[in-house]
Amino acid sequence: MSITNNLKNIKQSLPENVTLIAVSKTKPVSDLMEAYETGQRIFGENKIQEMAEKHEEMPKDIQWHMIGHVQRNKVKYMASFVSLIHGMESFKLLKEINKQAIKHERVIDCLLQIKIAEEDSKFGMSPKEASDILQSQDFSALKNIRITGVMGMATFTENTAQIEKEFKLLKSTFESLKELNTENCQLQTISMGMSGDYQLAIACGSTMVRVGSSIFGKRN
Ligand SMILES: *Cc1c(COP(=O)(O)O)cnc(C)c1O
Repeated sequence: MSITNNLKNIKQSLPENVTLIAVSKTKPVSDLMEAYETGQRIFGENKIQEMAEKHEEMPKDIQWHMIGHVQRNKVKYMASFVSLIHGMESFKLLKEINKQAIKHERVIDCLLQIKIAEEDSKFGMSPKEASDILQSQDFSALKNIRITGVMGMATFTENTAQIEKEFKLLKSTFESLKELNTENCQLQTISMGMSGDYQLAIACGSTMVRVGSSIFGKRN
């Protein structure tokens, strides 16, 4: 199947309220351009430098989402253009994003990454940590970031019941954090679901799915 066909099929299967992020990490610009020609305008990358290079080369109406682990010393390379950062996992990182956003006189939208998987290898904060941060004075002082939702990754397993349990945890975390509506925190997005589990994620309340290999094929 071609990228165009894959993309069309997936788009058709998504409910209207679900946004599709085409995860293009490791893929060449020619592959991304094929998706672009099909109408895709949101791409997800997990390395800041790779995303910055692709942003340079590609049309400027693309929205670039950083979906990977963010190193603080590299935030400056994406601060001018990144459209959404999915992996906010500490207050320190939020502070750095805010600092870089000020330099570019913009507000950067971010999702808090919640650790829903049992695996230790996955990043993220606990629901309690997220709630504490959002209610802190220090957080309300960060005027150049806006928290617009939560993101999570389920355990890498065949056990559907376990994945479902983790997705439901993210959904309920979202619902409780949503109450804390402040100037720089307006939750509307639940980023969960990848190629292998996005249908289940949508059934559990996802509003944003990050799909890579089902569009672009396997990565090396
Ligand atoms: C790579 C990646 C994806 C996409 O994974 P696929 O299984 O190829 O769809 C989604 N989310 C994150 C955070 C990723 O790093």
